[in-house]
Amino acid sequence: MPVRVITQNVDGLHQLGGMPDRKVLELHGTARSFVCTGCHTRGPMEDALARVEAGEDDPPCLECGGILKSATVMFGEMLDPVVLGEAVAISKACQVFVAVGTSLQVQPAAGLAGVADDHGARLIIVNAEPTPYDDRADEVIREPIGAALPKLLRGLTSGEQPADPPGV
Ligand SMILES: [Zn+2]
Repeated sequence: MPVRVITQNVDGLHQLGGMPDRKVLELHGTARSFVCTGCHTRGPMEDALARVEAGEDDPPCLECGGILKSATVMFGEMLDPVVLGEAVAISKACQVFVAVGTSLQVQPAAGLAGVADDHGARLIIVNAEPTPYDDRADEVIREPIGAALPKLLRGLTSGEQPADPPGV
């Protein structure tokens, strides 16, 4: 089944773990890139860090001289409306929505679980502590994520495989 990852993490570990970039929606941006606060030019964080190592204390934007920051969403900043819009669309369209390791307390990200449930997805919550969406979930799992996820994914994927490959 097609899989998308909607994450509040900014560390890029989903991609390093093998998930293609286009399948990962980073609601809070990414620390792997820099962005100019003036002209919004972006680039790889390694490039900015290389300039610091080469002696520039606070490397300015090469396009406009503006201030560079990591391309993450800071506390109090709006989420990127394009990314959030895609996340809402995916939540509406998905068949299974698995909320993993989140207290589901911070909006608007937490509301995506509700959007998925409203649109008929099977809602599965994997979290050590209760969340405000537990009542609406089809399944709530309190096990540690490392144990729960492999089991859960085996169950989800085995359901749709044909018993015998066709033509054999
Ligand atoms: Zn700039």
